[in-house]
Amino acid sequence: MSLFFPDYSFRRVYEIPSRFFLEQGVRVLLLDVDNTLTTHDNPTPHREVLAWLDAQREAGLRLFLLSNNTPERVAPFAQKIGLEFIARAKKPLPFPLWRTLKRMGIPPRQAAIIGDQIFTDVLCGRLSRCLSVLVEPMEEEDWGFLATKRRWEKVVLRHYRPKEWE
Ligand SMILES: [Mg+2]
Repeated sequence: MSLFFPDYSFRRVYEIPSRFFLEQGVRVLLLDVDNTLTTHDNPTPHREVLAWLDAQREAGLRLFLLSNNTPERVAPFAQKIGLEFIARAKKPLPFPLWRTLKRMGIPPRQAAIIGDQIFTDVLCGRLSRCLSVLVEPMEEEDWGFLATKRRWEKVVLRHYRPKEWE
């Protein structure tokens, strides 16, 4: 079960202070897009998110989008906010992001994966040995497969005890 537990959880991505990452030796942030930085298919990040991204950059963190979505979805979004990206990231598999980290000479423990889904983002963090940070989804998904996944996530989270970092 613990493979599905994040190291830490926050409500929104923009509520995570840079200090949280820096104190744990994290230098690279791998950010999920849909329902983490913005709502589904929304081409624009929320204003709080933009300010937060700037603050992380100013703190010296390197930022990547890490999305299972298509390059058609991820590239324009990345361009708009000036970020590098990995699309079709195959989360929870660790290989695509390992390749990127290796190219930069960054060991996985110096990267954090931040996202809203347990069976993709959190599990990916665990399998890749990056720091895994769960945020709450920005909006409810009450359709199809995602709704089913959300129900299973609730079952997992019933056993999860959030850890304080300070
Ligand atoms: Mg997501």
